[in-house]
Amino acid sequence: MGPLFGGRSDKTREADGGNLDLEWLEETYKEFHREPELSTAEEKTAARIKRELEHFSDWAVTTDIGGYGITAVLENGEGPTVLFRADFDGLPVAEKTDVDYKSKHSQLDAGGQRVPTMHACGHDHHTMSLLGAMRVLDGTREQWSGTVVALFQPAEEASIGANGMVNDGLGRVIPRPDVCLAQHIIAGPAGRVFTAPGPVMASSTTIEITLYGRGAHASMPHRSVDPVVLAASTVMKLQTVVSREVPPNQFAVITVASVEAGKANNVIPDSAKISLSCRFYDEALRKKCVDSIKRIVRAEATSMGAERPPSFKFVGMLSALKNSENVFNTVRENFDETFGEESTDMEPWSASEDFSAIPKAFGAPYMLWTVGITPRWQWDRAEKAGRLDIDIPTNHNPLFLPDLNTLPVGVRAAAVGILSCLQQEWERPGEEPEDRIYSPTVPTDEDIDAVAVEISGAN
Ligand SMILES: [Zn+2]
Ligand SMILES: [Zn+2]
Repeated sequence: MGPLFGGRSDKTREADGGNLDLEWLEETYKEFHREPELSTAEEKTAARIKRELEHFSDWAVTTDIGGYGITAVLENGEGPTVLFRADFDGLPVAEKTDVDYKSKHSQLDAGGQRVPTMHACGHDHHTMSLLGAMRVLDGTREQWSGTVVALFQPAEEASIGANGMVNDGLGRVIPRPDVCLAQHIIAGPAGRVFTAPGPVMASSTTIEITLYGRGAHASMPHRSVDPVVLAASTVMKLQTVVSREVPPNQFAVITVASVEAGKANNVIPDSAKISLSCRFYDEALRKKCVDSIKRIVRAEATSMGAERPPSFKFVGMLSALKNSENVFNTVRENFDETFGEESTDMEPWSASEDFSAIPKAFGAPYMLWTVGITPRWQWDRAEKAGRLDIDIPTNHNPLFLPDLNTLPVGVRAAAVGILSCLQQEWERPGEEPEDRIYSPTVPTDEDIDAVAVEISGAN
């Protein structure tokens, strides 16, 4: 696959030539990077992607699917249908890098508050990888055959974008994919491409908990049940779930990512809210930990004399992401050929993704791989000093900034991944009527509530 554009071990920008306009790639990336938009509010980003799609004449484009979702389909003769997903939303983070294309953008969030925005998870990079891969595929059409579906997904960070597109009739606007692919950039040596079969990303459970106390004048704590103190002790006690209840060889993360209480310095508020982000690979362990969280939260409230028990709201649930062995074998072989020693094994990641909702809706096998974007000098220096965890900004950090040299690597990985799947035969499930519209098999809000009730019922 390598010769299609760029060959083995091309690590530098110069060697990535081929069909790719590197100036376009970098300049367009910087445009996206300068103006990130929050999940479900990606109006300008979607419009900018649409403008890029005007570059192509034969791709069937559909816009505004499940919000600002976009698909572009190129039918190029007999062969399998391969879907590639790129997400394009940003985060409420204030960028602290010092590049001239850093984001100074801000937007109103769902609560009506103006917040700075940043592409702190690299979704601008993903978007460019797919747009670049489309150019490569478009320009090399006589060398491959099949159908390619380019899918640009909004609202990934809110965990609702993929489901949103499926629920809004994605199955009616694209042909059923035989394989679905996605790529995510990570903190890692620039240009290294990581793949693995099996579970690579964790499930995610988000719980908003309201702790009820009794409000009072700040000078009269004895007249209150202070929810600030209750929140503080609850947050500390929750740290014991993973450290004391989960077997040391099992994966679990419970992070209290947000604490909200009080608005004035002389008022003890009557409630506090904490938001938890929990990650697991094992479903039984997930249920056990959710039970433990409920037990601890309720017991802390009782111990403080709270009259009203805490309430739990499950705001999002994502299942773990498990790469297909078949897709892995196909893609990895071609990555090894293209990237040489820079194609390597992926460690399971503790983050989560909603991408798998798309292949699951179509019953298609899938794979998500990652690409390292940390400048090599920075990575090597930190590694030598034993400070990788301290010095290297991760996704969602205000200093997270891809090395620009990784832009063509992202494009090449996307193109090679798609092309390698186009060359395979894929098994389709059973008999299919021509006009089959694929109905989503994704959880609705009611399903999520039902699970939440089921879990609380167990306690
Ligand atoms: Zn993210
Ligand atoms: Zn992301």
